Amino acid sequence: MEIDQSLIARIAAEVMAKVQKEAGSGSRGMGIFATIDEAVEAARLAQKQLRKLTIEKREVLITAMREAAYKNAAILAEMAVNESGMGRVADKVLKNQLAARKTPGTEDLKTEAWSGDKGLTLIERGPYGVIGAITPTTNPSETVINNGISMVAAGNSVVFSPHPTAKNTSLHTIRLLNEAIISAGGPANLLTAVAEPSLEATNAMMAHPHINMLVATGGPAVVRAVMSSGKKAIGAGAGNPPVIVDETANIERAAKDIIAGCSFDNNLPCIAEKEVIAVGSIADRLIAYMQKYGGYLISGQDIDRLVKVVLTENAELAASGCTEKPKRTYAVNKKFVGKDAKYILKQIGIDVPDDIRAVICETEADHPFVLEELMMPVLPVIQVNNVQEAIELAVSVEHGNRHTAVMHSRNVDNLTRFAKAVETTIFVKNAPSFAGIGVGGEGFTTFTIAGPTGEGLTSARSFTRQRRCVLVDALSVV
Ligand code: NAD
Repeated sequence: MEIDQSLIARIAAEVMAKVQKEAGSGSRGMGIFATIDEAVEAARLAQKQLRKLTIEKREVLITAMREAAYKNAAILAEMAVNESGMGRVADKVLKNQLAARKTPGTEDLKTEAWSGDKGLTLIERGPYGVIGAITPTTNPSETVINNGISMVAAGNSVVFSPHPTAKNTSLHTIRLLNEAIISAGGPANLLTAVAEPSLEATNAMMAHPHINMLVATGGPAVVRAVMSSGKKAIGAGAGNPPVIVDETANIERAAKDIIAGCSFDNNLPCIAEKEVIAVGSIADRLIAYMQKYGGYLISGQDIDRLVKVVLTENAELAASGCTEKPKRTYAVNKKFVGKDAKYILKQIGIDVPDDIRAVICETEADHPFVLEELMMPVLPVIQVNNVQEAIELAVSVEHGNRHTAVMHSRNVDNLTRFAKAVETTIFVKNAPSFAGIGVGGEGFTTFTIAGPTGEGLTSARSFTRQRRCVLVDALSVV
């Protein structure tokens, strides 16, 4: 009897898929490996297979990734909040859906061409190969979905290094996306990771000779690490977005938008409003409206009590001329990052209803709530005399991150002056910060905003190399 080879291959593939699916519910399988060497090698082979597919097929795989991510948005959101102890499930559902729907695919890879007497010259966008993507705890599934779609659209495979505190959520997202790719007829292991992510594993990944590009989404340390790796690196770092409200703004709308933006996912997004700078003549009205839309105002000793709860203080001696005076430095108490305003207020003995979305307080410009990236719904408001003072202060407290800034104003000159001065990657006018990543604003989304290395809002094209192809004396048809 003759054996049908294609039938055997199909059965073997089905059995393999079943085995991998079962393994996927444990720690290994579906892109998850014991060691970095295995994860990199599997991703390297997968990328070779991806290169053999047409761009049309690549788009089929991306459609399957989008569908899987969208379908599982709620489960992933629930997992992330349970595992990391940060954020709001309903907001994370939206973020997962956003990443699934509004991350650009292969249409982002535009060819440039010159044609003329000498023929035709093209610049096309080719993949790097295997990308090492380091992802944060604050947007674990969102970043894997967003980076995964963008990087595969560009023809790469990815070895992810997720934050250990969001390990299960990140690995589960990787498995789901791999399952979707395989069921759409794509190669296994386009996305990989190790079962036990750690700093050591990330360092081994960064140093691996078969990792062709590094992409870090996180705080200053990891951005520094990839930028000093000697490899092509994209760094998407910390922000401390200021929001200015001047006397020409629609004050009620500004207050509503600020509370919405600052409390979205409990202030975890790097783009979220972190401090308000208000021109004095409208500040009281702004604060009153912020209270109307879910802000809870604290003052005096309650602010001092909150400082002691959400920050840890180190007094350091700093030389200043010939006198020595203590300089205070603060670090954010991670226990409160991404927690509900209600929970945070409870720590200082204040009980509030569930609809309180943010804690607001008036502070001086040099208060640690202004200077530190808190990543929790605690929002300081600073009064200044005029818009020029507001702009100078906002530029200073943004710390040169060149990340995100927001302004509520109906004066085009003021808007323009602030946008020019602050030089941020994202500048949002008269809307919540999240409009800057395509929620209620035009444009695509990303969860990797590369200010330090300048790619801006990353998309497929950010993960490509330019390749020039020159044909002389032919193919120009005019
Ligand atoms: P984090 O810096 O603690 O961790 C981010 C990732 O980097 C994790 O995977 C972590 O394991 C790894 N990491 C940290 N230090 C490292 C080092 N020295 N070497 C190698 N790997 C290292 O940040 P987080 O708490 O997960 O996320 C919050 C931070 O990320 C905030 O500062 C936020 O503004 C920033 N962020 C930026 C963007 C952006 O697009 N620019 C997006 C999300 C978050």
